[in-house]
Amino acid sequence: MNYQKLIDIATELGCEVTEQASMAELTTFRIGGPADLLVDIPNGSAAAAVIAVCSHQQIPYLFIGNGSNLLVGDKGIRGAVLRFTEDGAEPVLQPELGEGVLYAPAGMQLKNLCRFARDHSLTGLEFAFGIPGTVGGALYMNAGAYGGEMSQVVTMAHCITPEGETGILPAAELELGYRHSALMDKGYIVTGVTLQLQAGDRDTIAATMQDLMGRRRDKQPLEYPSAGSFFKRPVGYYAGALVEQTGLKGFRVGDAQVSEKHAGFVVNRGNATAAEMLELCRQVQEKVYEAHGVRLEPEVRFVGEF
Ligand code: FAD
Repeated sequence: MNYQKLIDIATELGCEVTEQASMAELTTFRIGGPADLLVDIPNGSAAAAVIAVCSHQQIPYLFIGNGSNLLVGDKGIRGAVLRFTEDGAEPVLQPELGEGVLYAPAGMQLKNLCRFARDHSLTGLEFAFGIPGTVGGALYMNAGAYGGEMSQVVTMAHCITPEGETGILPAAELELGYRHSALMDKGYIVTGVTLQLQAGDRDTIAATMQDLMGRRRDKQPLEYPSAGSFFKRPVGYYAGALVEQTGLKGFRVGDAQVSEKHAGFVVNRGNATAAEMLELCRQVQEKVYEAHGVRLEPEVRFVGEF
């Protein structure tokens, strides 16, 4: 694939371009071969221009956030990996649109958005405090925890179409469901999110965030690289409980392991490969199905060449 035009235009737009970028370094699983090209993009308008070039040049691309829900294949990614570099960007309160309305750039860290909400005594985002993604990745996945999810607070998504055009989608058109959004079906990239929060008490918000973070530290294997819950919650069950009841806590293929602390997590015990992860996933699915008749579906997104 010829990337020269993309490299030239992206560089002119102020992007940083890296060839043969290690995806292991860009994901929380710490697994994955190189991406042909990594383009770090400073803002939404540069993203639209980069996507238009990719579309015109027929260069496949994958837009990522923190890589906290990704398993990248050992052979890496052919094409371009795009991401925002604007994690220093601040959310903006929009009182003209109503009390508690704010705009957050997609590339910012979700935890920083939560802190901003807390510092402005705005409640509604406490659930998201420990989720290690970006705002864009969280909307794309409709990330959620402890009874909250992005669908409860998002009112609009600022998007780029696969052709590089920009537009705004109201929440109703995002079809936000359990770890699903219409963005997955449409191939839209999120550049920013408008949220509606409620006036609250700063100390109560801070205490709830600390409490939920403490529960994560107690229950989740945060000491090992992972991508969070590996499987989606099947209707009527908890994936972790099914895996544990099948006797698979600690089950290992090479360095890929069902966490000994929380059977809903799969962890990288050092040098796990994507192939080991896939094999572990396959065996867990098979054994859980044999034992309980339930098919587990990965929540983690498998991308690139395996
Ligand atoms: P990535 O992993 O980089 O990407 C995920 C998907 O979003 C990809 O398909 C990517 O193409 C797409 N995407 C990313 N950015 C954009 C964008 N700007 N526009 C369009 N598409 C985009 N998840 C939960 O829901 N709840 C939890 O409680 C939770 N706990 C976790 C705990 C740990 C320790 C870890 C490692 C993960 C956890 N996760 C949890 C998973 C993960 O953090 C979330 O899914 C998060 O929303 C992913 O965000 P990200 O920015 O890392 O996206």
